[in-house]
Amino acid sequence: MQASSTIAERTCGTGECGKSCSKREAETLYADARRAMEICNACRYCEGFCAVFPAMTTRREFTKGDLNYLANLCHNCRGCYYSCQYAPPHEFGINVPRLFSDVRAASYEAYAWPDAFAVAFRRNGTVLSIATAIAIATVLALVAHFADPGVLYAADGSPGAFYRVISWDAMVTVAGGVFAFSLVALAVGGVRFWRDTGGGSVRMPAPAVEAVSDVLTLRNLGGGGGGCNDLNERYSNLRRGFHHLTFYGFMLCFAATSVATIYDHAFGLIAPYPFLSFPVQLGFWGGLGLVIGPAGLAWLKVVGDPEPASRRVMGGDFALLALLMLVSTTGLALLALRETPAMGILLAVHLGAVSSLFLFIPYSKMTHGLYRSLALFRAAIERRRNVV
Ligand code: SF4
Ligand code: SF4
Repeated sequence: MQASSTIAERTCGTGECGKSCSKREAETLYADARRAMEICNACRYCEGFCAVFPAMTTRREFTKGDLNYLANLCHNCRGCYYSCQYAPPHEFGINVPRLFSDVRAASYEAYAWPDAFAVAFRRNGTVLSIATAIAIATVLALVAHFADPGVLYAADGSPGAFYRVISWDAMVTVAGGVFAFSLVALAVGGVRFWRDTGGGSVRMPAPAVEAVSDVLTLRNLGGGGGGCNDLNERYSNLRRGFHHLTFYGFMLCFAATSVATIYDHAFGLIAPYPFLSFPVQLGFWGGLGLVIGPAGLAWLKVVGDPEPASRRVMGGDFALLALLMLVSTTGLALLALRETPAMGILLAVHLGAVSSLFLFIPYSKMTHGLYRSLALFRAAIERRRNVV
């Protein structure tokens, strides 16, 4: 068997074979992943490592849907890379974490809706960065055009100060409209993933509870208690901890916005609220988590062993982590400076960053939350059926 060469090495860019390079890249990628799974299926040394290998053993052949399912079930803990006797420099060149990172990225593109938006995954880092800059510039330009300069640059901490810079209706139209579109896009992508990876009933409460528990605890990043190979062959719980800070930080920030909406509409309490109020405390602690978590995840990518990592997805990953930190730091700065003349500009930058984040939920690494949850759900169903 030949050593696994990289995708870049196998595409010449001349078009002589009559296929586009991106199509050949995808074909080569899935052929490499299929070959790796066939070797793993014969070896089975890693059977107890994670949910991937037990699911793999129930399959003799690996369709694209199977490989997309297994790749999204993989949590990229790198345990199988450091344990593998066939990892490079062995001629088999087995590197499951890197291969599955590339397959996951290909699956995000394949299931994206609308189809035309799938190209956002090709140069995800560049697309995400440019779109964020455009979103912030657009909101700043609109605020500069429509807001009264006497209001925009005034120090005002009284109730309703935010809405005198950007009206409630405008905020809901921009951020709410983008978020609603992203939810629809996510739902279509989820249905496509589910059908392509085997379909079947989703009305099974027990596996759903198991999958939700796996998602909320990141059990598959626990390595049986000792942690994962976050940086190198040594075990740690750093990635799991930083991921928890990022995920729960995001959820707390989302809860803060929801609670503030209820305060406003149900109780007539208009923002800005005191620092010790419920919505501000949710946003403050969530914002801190959303600074520390993404910063930690970015640090792990910089100092970690690059061999099991995919270079193709790195740009998009860094761009998303930077956007998350931009959202959280502008939110915290807005909290700190909300009674100063900087409030209006900070509010516009924050709204632009939030809108970009909402828009890219289905077109960035954020989408992995949906597909991994569905993969965990399928794995739980298969375990209950005693298939594995
Ligand atoms: S990753 Fe390596 S050691 Fe693990 S099952 Fe596959 S071939 Fe065997
Ligand atoms: S990297 Fe970790 S989660 Fe992914 S297949 Fe290997 S052991 Fe399983």
